[in-house]
Amino acid sequence: MTPARSLRGPFDYLLGAALGDVGVGSMLLVPFGGRRLLGVVVEVAEESELAPERLVEPLAALEADVPAELVRLGLWVAREYVSTPARGLALVLPPGTGTGAGRGLSARRSLTAALTDDGHAALAGSARLGARQRAALEVLRGGPVRVSVLARDTGCDHAGARRLERRGLVRLEQAIEAGRRPEIRSVGARAKVGTLTAEQRDAVAAVVARMDAPGGARRDLLLQGVTGSGKTEVYLRAVAAALERGRSAIVLVPEIALTPQTAGRFVERFGHTVAILHSRLTGRERYDEWARLRSGEARVCVGPRSAVFAPLERLGLIVVDEEHDASYKQEGDPRYDARMVAERRASECGAVLLAGTATPRPESVHRLERLRLRHRVDGRPLPPVEVVGMAGVGGPLHERTRDALDDVRRAGGKAIVLLNRRGWANFLTCGACARVWGCPSCDVSLVLHRRERRLACHHCGHRERVPAACPDCGSVSPARHGIGTEQLGAELERLMSPLPVFRLDADTAAGAGVASTLERFDSAEAGVLVGTQMVAKGHDFPDVTLGVVLDADATLRFPDFRAEERTFALVAQLAGRSGRGGRGGRVVVQALDPSARALGHAAAHDADGFLAGELVRREALGYPPFGHLIRVVCSSPEPGPESQAAAAILERIDAPDAAVLGPAPLFRLKGRERAQLVVKGRDRSGSITAVRRAVESVAAEREHRGASYAVDVDPQ
Ligand code: ADP
Ligand code: ZN
Ligand code: ZN
Repeated sequence: MTPARSLRGPFDYLLGAALGDVGVGSMLLVPFGGRRLLGVVVEVAEESELAPERLVEPLAALEADVPAELVRLGLWVAREYVSTPARGLALVLPPGTGTGAGRGLSARRSLTAALTDDGHAALAGSARLGARQRAALEVLRGGPVRVSVLARDTGCDHAGARRLERRGLVRLEQAIEAGRRPEIRSVGARAKVGTLTAEQRDAVAAVVARMDAPGGARRDLLLQGVTGSGKTEVYLRAVAAALERGRSAIVLVPEIALTPQTAGRFVERFGHTVAILHSRLTGRERYDEWARLRSGEARVCVGPRSAVFAPLERLGLIVVDEEHDASYKQEGDPRYDARMVAERRASECGAVLLAGTATPRPESVHRLERLRLRHRVDGRPLPPVEVVGMAGVGGPLHERTRDALDDVRRAGGKAIVLLNRRGWANFLTCGACARVWGCPSCDVSLVLHRRERRLACHHCGHRERVPAACPDCGSVSPARHGIGTEQLGAELERLMSPLPVFRLDADTAAGAGVASTLERFDSAEAGVLVGTQMVAKGHDFPDVTLGVVLDADATLRFPDFRAEERTFALVAQLAGRSGRGGRGGRVVVQALDPSARALGHAAAHDADGFLAGELVRREALGYPPFGHLIRVVCSSPEPGPESQAAAAILERIDAPDAAVLGPAPLFRLKGRERAQLVVKGRDRSGSITAVRRAVESVAAEREHRGASYAVDVDPQ
């Protein structure tokens, strides 16, 4: 596992007898140059191109290992997303391993082996047993023994013990100390689900039928269910069906801190069988949950995108909840898309893929077989949505919005208000000389955060004091433009008094924490939850009667082919938070251009109409799912090398069927000049190969040393 792009491997080592059972997925400590590095076995070969005297032996085999299936998956990710094998493999290794020397990993906590009844019988009878296996079983007759001790005394190591376990002759256990399991608190409605609705029943039956279908059958499903239609219950039953069949399941969810409710339901239903991998875990907790999955003690893994690599065997189901959510794409290398990885992993191991959402992506509608939940579980209609135009309106709120909020205030109800921009004001200018305060490292303007008395860059984290005077002209009249959640929160406190206002955005999440804000809003009698798109995630608060979206078409003003899809999903998801209880609900959407297509469809709860139009548009333009995009960004600290590198790559991309757009300059980010190429082609693997070759050849050249390269397949 070397992080260097130039040392890709795989490297050959000599497998001596001393290490015993080593197979694909075994983890080894190996000498590498003058260092000791962690290695993963990707193949066991009979011969090597290296002369025997040049082959060295690994130093040790570690106790932890990875299923062979995951080794293949990690290597696939490396290829598919134009990364290195080490980075792809790092995704599937035990947490804390990554690339590097694997320090502290070896025998953290040991696995204990105990003889089963079948094991006793095997010893007594004439079962086929190797010498080491027999020796191990003999030792175990005296009682459970740690696997590491067993390996030392009998030569039957970890992998050997696993084989005995698979034959049912021993039981391997990894006791978890009490109180160490991470806790998950559930927020929001906790209704007991008695009987399924007819639609839910049909959906569950369809999933189970795919699970039981013969090998080679298609098993990828899209559960398109309106908000409040009970998708989670379908996932729960599908997981139960997998467990009943002796199979395991992965449930991918957007960031857990934002949707503790969903994860909580899985723990409520399946208890200790569930392992949760979320970002708040300590390194040790993360490793423990991983080990519980690896040992088979936990059979269900709930977590964000990285949980798609959970070390489960006999996988029967992968659920992707809220499949439209952008968090499924990893931002750093390897820039994998967990939805695509889930599809790949499911098809490789014959598991069912079940992606679910109220607002599916055009890609999913095009690729997956669709199941529908057309009605909310309680039979209530979706709330009416009114789109109001903001042209000529002074202040952040339209009259209709004010009226609706006032109704909530007088009734003592609850409302959710969404503005996808944090801070107090978007930017600051000098009233006298028109100077704009910008980030020194990025070509963007700084956002005013009033409580902190700071200007902040939302791209690189740069912060500076709010200026008392303009450094260019000395004027003391800086003007604030635009409104963010901080200012909107203050405005709502004034308007909605005495109702409490709860703010939820990246700034408050860092302080009070998301879960506690959601809990306080949930348990309040009345109040307003205001924030960024965080407030539109799958929360289930039955007493919310009003949803408001401000500046709903802001997303449409970005030049991005996904702008329409994002806008539609944001509005439809927020609308889905309203009117889940007996008091009904309504939604007001403010936009500069209320006639925008995405808003019209969202207001009519018309996902099908939106998707149909979107697919036509995408096909005409060759965008996903009808073509594949690959983005290459070259960057350098000084202007020059980035554009020369991009031009050189453009020259070398050999993909006759693909169009290459650019190089186009991008705005400076984190102190780096950037240039971008976009490759658009119908032949996915051909385009990926062509880009990989071009980037590798340019990156290897002396004259392009000054540039760095980032390749993004399926950019979001
Ligand atoms: P979705 O994810 O589709 O928006 P949820 O899964 O959050 O919907 O379900 C909405 C609410 O309906 C939850 O409180 C859930 O417990 C409840 N629910 C789900 N199925 C049923 C059912 N069959 N009968 C009654 N309540 C149900
Ligand atoms: Zn000035
Ligand atoms: Zn910046």
